[in-house]
Amino acid sequence: MGALPVFRWRLAPDGYATRRQLRARGLRPGGQPVVAQLERPRRRRPPLVAYLYRVDLAKPVRPMTPARWAALAKANRARRICPQCRAEAVYVIPPSLGACVPCSFPDPSRAVRSA
Ligand SMILES: [Zn+2]
Repeated sequence: MGALPVFRWRLAPDGYATRRQLRARGLRPGGQPVVAQLERPRRRRPPLVAYLYRVDLAKPVRPMTPARWAALAKANRARRICPQCRAEAVYVIPPSLGACVPCSFPDPSRAVRSA
């Protein structure tokens, strides 16, 4: 990537906005490349950098359609299904555990003991 124009914090030219500023206006970068960056100097640390996009190239945030809500619900549900016991937990299965809590931490008092 070539060198981007760098502007000082709060001195961004009109027509440019950070991703967060676009979002506040219901916009998204929409695939455009970063066109400039803002730098905020900090003492004894590297400057804070924010990337700027062109407002005129930004696109409206895609509205949620029933199909997108359904896809989202399906994805969230899949993340609650324990891969070991196939039960649906009321929480998202933590990736660090990889299974629901009863599977990850079997209760020894309820364990079936074979004689
Ligand atoms: Zn389980």
